[in-house]
Amino acid sequence: MEDFTIYMPTRIVFGEGRLKDAGELVAPYAERAVVVTGRSSMKNAGFLDELVESLEASGVAVPLLIEGTPPNPTVDFVDESVGRLKEYVPGEVDIVIGLGGGSALDSAKALAFSCANEGSVWEYISPSGEKKQPARIPLPTMMIPSTSGTGSETSCAAVISNTAEGAKVPLAGPYLFPRMAVIDPRLPATMPPRLTAATGIDTWSHVFENYTQSTSDPFTDLVNVETMRLVGEWLPAAVAQPSDMEARSRMAVASFYGGFSLGISGAHVGHALEHPISAITDCPHGEGLAFVLKGVTSWLEQVSPERAALVAALLPGEGALGTRYRQFLQSVGMDRTPSDLGFAENDFDRIATLALDTMGGACNRAPVPVGKQDLVAILAKCLE
Ligand code: NDP
Ligand code: MN
Repeated sequence: MEDFTIYMPTRIVFGEGRLKDAGELVAPYAERAVVVTGRSSMKNAGFLDELVESLEASGVAVPLLIEGTPPNPTVDFVDESVGRLKEYVPGEVDIVIGLGGGSALDSAKALAFSCANEGSVWEYISPSGEKKQPARIPLPTMMIPSTSGTGSETSCAAVISNTAEGAKVPLAGPYLFPRMAVIDPRLPATMPPRLTAATGIDTWSHVFENYTQSTSDPFTDLVNVETMRLVGEWLPAAVAQPSDMEARSRMAVASFYGGFSLGISGAHVGHALEHPISAITDCPHGEGLAFVLKGVTSWLEQVSPERAALVAALLPGEGALGTRYRQFLQSVGMDRTPSDLGFAENDFDRIATLALDTMGGACNRAPVPVGKQDLVAILAKCLE
């Protein structure tokens, strides 16, 4: 057996209605919290108020709310948030709380990092030039996910985009694991079907990619198999019936399981190819993945037939992995083309180059070594 390292320090509090417990959970750690959320979904659903009320009732002050995190959060948004915190809030805050989709959670993590480390977060992750090394550990964070997808609630990554450079790269390290995650399935139950499907494919991609990469360990194998089974069984139900709380709960579990695998050993070619696509087009991460995984699943049948067969058996439907994956996408309404996402076949070359230049770590985890021509060929398979 290969050597492995497992670290999963996040305390997970799960259950319908448990958003109300956030204040009690935070109070032992913090007197002052900053809350980071998205544009409007959490406010409109009443969850932002519920969180702030719970914090204040437990004696935790909220001197600043950072609203308006854009999907695919940018370095500019993170830097501005740091500036607002420094300008408007005298003294220290003790914890950063992310409430929303992966974009809000990742912004919260990046803000917690930037409160402890000088300069722009981009200086620590830029694929071009020398990276700064963090000098201090970030502020503690609490994650409250409203999508069942990214696994950011239990992972050690925050994905940040730099549109000017066409780069979307993770800030990652063991110091970035959330201190706590409150997982309340009432939040994802407000997602419309299209967002449910896209984020559910993101979860599937985390465990599919983790399971088929060049290294494995007994713990992620266990988590990946169970999570692929959960998504195969429950994502279609959550898409078909948004108020099905059993399906929502199962998908919320699948999402944080996926975060475990990502946090332990990452993803490979699917994420390497999708990040440049959403950096260029600003398409939703899960929709970009739904497209690229058509090529990745077919390619896996050739380069890793054993694992491809094991993965196929965990999806509903008939046939080999590529065929079954396409059937699954259709069953959840997620079959995407490049023009749906905002790019074209003649961008494949640039996407492959960007994947190697900006997501080299993920490319190196592919089950067999990949170069530019392999990545272009995988993208071409997506059109078959
Ligand atoms: P986003 O957080 O980008 O949210 C997408 C949209 O969904 C927003 O318009 C948001 O609206 C809306 N939304 C969120 N929750 C709900 C809800 N419950 N009901 C209705 N609308 C809702 O989506 P994802 O969760 O897919 O996050 C994607 C980001 O996460 C990408 O940047 C991706 O690269 C990253 N990612 C991070 C990983 C990690 O390990 N950290 C792993 C994989 C992906 P509003 O703004 O109004 O809230
Ligand atoms: Mn992802």
